[in-house]
Amino acid sequence: MSDLPNLDHYWLPFTANRQFKSMPRLFQAAKGNYYTTIDDRRLLDGTAGLWCVAAGHGREEIAVSVANQLRTLDYAPAFQNSHPLAFEAAERLAQYMPPGLDRIFFTGSGSESADTALKIALAYHRVTGNPLRNKLVGRERGYHGVNFGGIAVGGIAGNRKAFGNGLAGVDHIRHTLDIGRNAFTRGLPQDGGIALANEFEQRITTLHDPATIAALIVEPMQGSAGVLLPPVGYLKRLREICDKHGILLIFDEVITGFGRLGTKFASDYFGVVPDIITCAKALTNGAVPMGAVAVKRDIYDAFMANSPAGGIELPHGYTYSAHPVACAAALATLDIFATEKLEDRAAGLSTHFEQVAHSLKGLPFVKDIRNLGLVAGIELESIPGKPGAAAFATYLKCYEMGVLVRYTGDILAISPPLTIEKDEIDRIFSTIGEALTTLA
Ligand code: PLP
Repeated sequence: MSDLPNLDHYWLPFTANRQFKSMPRLFQAAKGNYYTTIDDRRLLDGTAGLWCVAAGHGREEIAVSVANQLRTLDYAPAFQNSHPLAFEAAERLAQYMPPGLDRIFFTGSGSESADTALKIALAYHRVTGNPLRNKLVGRERGYHGVNFGGIAVGGIAGNRKAFGNGLAGVDHIRHTLDIGRNAFTRGLPQDGGIALANEFEQRITTLHDPATIAALIVEPMQGSAGVLLPPVGYLKRLREICDKHGILLIFDEVITGFGRLGTKFASDYFGVVPDIITCAKALTNGAVPMGAVAVKRDIYDAFMANSPAGGIELPHGYTYSAHPVACAAALATLDIFATEKLEDRAAGLSTHFEQVAHSLKGLPFVKDIRNLGLVAGIELESIPGKPGAAAFATYLKCYEMGVLVRYTGDILAISPPLTIEKDEIDRIFSTIGEALTTLA
């Protein structure tokens, strides 16, 4: 391998560092749907980076906008001062959000968005005179980033065991995956959604007083834990239960936002409008770190109406909230979405994507295939005594064969840029198929 940097000093996140450093996989460039590795190999991007490069790599419009912004205003204090692009980016994002979610708080990442949303929910109940609504409910296998609030409501044991549970006063509902009943379902599972959602009401009425629950946070489609889909009717029923008990519903759309399911947000796909939406990743097409939390106008208004005049209504924010360069990247990204209608493009490709993904059924190791929009999860049978080894070996084999896939545990997750072409979709899945066959 050419020009390998000194690998000693960088501690890679969510990575087996020793393994990685024994076999580094480094990229030097990216354009369109492809990466170039440092040894000049082209790699088809089956993962849109980390679900974030929705509009494809190396977008000139974003590069120009970011470069101009850096030369014009590199930074403005985020507290007590601001700059016009912050307001413009908020307005444009509000227009892209489902109707009603038009007050925007900017953050630097998906994790910060999750914790911001939780804090807004808790503070909202205090500011409206309900301080006893101070419990949060998440879901098993949920991923809401890595900050303490996020790991508390998240439902991934591995993300907590080294740190503790993060927050007190948190409960979880069951995840929605039922391979026994729904293996190889194309799109959403048809059955069981209402009963699963009803378990939320059962839990809060039998184990808590529902009047103590501040918010329920869920990913409309669980991505990071391995593409877990909500059965038909499930999210709508959760919305009804939240309404009945005065609980705020938060959708974490860090993965599902910006066209991934063939609509702007998953909220649009499911026809269910939460009170708060978190997003990040594709908001800037992955080019500059940025996240956002969109809240219903009533929530923002409650803070304005009930806080002491002249005082800070929400004591929360980041040095890099609405960073000018991130705002420039977000505006350029929203322009690309507006002109290229990437959501519609994803919707148009989703049937082909589904067919090709499910063509892997019957291959060695394949235990389940799940899909929605331009997302697929391929769950593999674990090698006895070696959890995760089958997916890791498949990932490495695909990498060798020129296709980047992602794995979590023994699940492969495919989420290409929305600019992907049909023949490239075919190549992603045929490469996975070949890898699985070779490994058998
Ligand atoms: N929420 C969800 C649903 C995610 O999928 C992720 C990241 O994958 C996050 C939050 C955390 O985002 P970040 O890594 O930008 O902090």
